[in-house]
Amino acid sequence: MAVNTSRSNELFDRALGLLPGGVSSPVRAFRAVGGSPIFIAEAEGAYFTDVDGNRFLDFVGSWGPLILGHAHPEVVAAVNAAAKRGLTYGAPHEAELDLAEQVTRHYPGVERVRFTSSGTEATMSAIRLARGVTSRSRLVKFSGCYHGHSDGLLVAAGSGAVTFGQPSSDGVPAEVAALTTVLPLDDIAAFETFMSEAGKEVAAVIIEPIPANNGLLLQRSEFLESLRRETTKHGALLIFDEVISGFRVHLGGAASLYDIQPDLATFGKIIGGGMPVGAFGGAAEHFENLAPDGGIYQAGTLSGNPVAMAAGLATIDVLTKNDVHTRLEALGQRLEDGVRGILDAGSWPAGFVRQGSIFWFYFFDGEAPRNAESVASDAAGPYSTFFRACLDEGVYLAPSSYEVGFLSHAHSESDVDRAVEVFARALSRAF
Ligand SMILES: *Cc1c(COP(=O)(O)O)cnc(C)c1O
Repeated sequence: MAVNTSRSNELFDRALGLLPGGVSSPVRAFRAVGGSPIFIAEAEGAYFTDVDGNRFLDFVGSWGPLILGHAHPEVVAAVNAAAKRGLTYGAPHEAELDLAEQVTRHYPGVERVRFTSSGTEATMSAIRLARGVTSRSRLVKFSGCYHGHSDGLLVAAGSGAVTFGQPSSDGVPAEVAALTTVLPLDDIAAFETFMSEAGKEVAAVIIEPIPANNGLLLQRSEFLESLRRETTKHGALLIFDEVISGFRVHLGGAASLYDIQPDLATFGKIIGGGMPVGAFGGAAEHFENLAPDGGIYQAGTLSGNPVAMAAGLATIDVLTKNDVHTRLEALGQRLEDGVRGILDAGSWPAGFVRQGSIFWFYFFDGEAPRNAESVASDAAGPYSTFFRACLDEGVYLAPSSYEVGFLSHAHSESDVDRAVEVFARALSRAF
């Protein structure tokens, strides 16, 4: 290995005696790629520096929030200014309204927003709202989609759960998991059949409209349209989990990109600008049922936190002022053109998928998969070599073949061009 990681290794040894697996969230542990994780000292723009002084071009972006890159000056200034006015109030304040207005303005059909402190809480609470509103219990999700780590959603979930080879988690009661039905993505017939049999018992159908936690499994719009049609027909609510896609693929999320309006939508990541935030939203008529107006309970000590609201607001402000999405699409196209050139020349059993600033390399033959079942499970071997080869040249990708990469506004054209050269050398080492 070209880079010296002795200080990181020391810290990881210490971490193993303190944190389970040495980490605060499983995929950070590098189990899927081998070796031990890099400890980060500081980050700015598209780069971070580790505790051994190595500098890396970052395509993880803290797993999605950092659409402007690390420590964007306007976001940091907003956070500093907010912090000086108090870290948390536990009482209403104006920035909550400003951020909620950004969501209602841009996202189709959202009239009311409730803030949480994570994406997990947002999806968990949206499901409780759907169950309360419909007086039904059953939930439908799709295999490979990740919606956070609450009990009823850790069934055939993507993200860290895939790497650990468990479709669900120990500790989730069978009685709870039994309320969740898992169907394959991209299979209209399977969905229609299930709904015609059990649709009247279903409170909600939840999906990542741009599934990005089991690779990037881009869906046909016909499939998403079938979800809209069948849920309406059977009186179930359609929930779009836009925790990754919200404000990343479009200011109005995947709902705007596909022109399909869900009943409820969940947000996180970008709307917190790097601070811990989640939110769920939808029509006023549904939210009348949420406490304090209605009998469905949901709460949070730090919900609507002023520092987090400030970070989210500053992020969305920069996104809109600078038309960042247009630039990210051009940057994504540049990356895609470069990578396609390499893949065509090398004829390796590998492919590349992209939606705007989200991208994914897959390490098997054939067309880009549209469901989790089509993702080869033996692709991890070549990915580990590819990942290591990139790391050696200072390019940081996610330490798992199931995780996507993210471009940010801080990435320059030359960063992308250099990454393409590194990817070319790494691919030839992987095969
Ligand atoms: C990250 C993610 C979540 C969970 O959000 P946390 O803030 O990690 O709890 C939920 N849904 C999707 C689609 C995500 O990518």
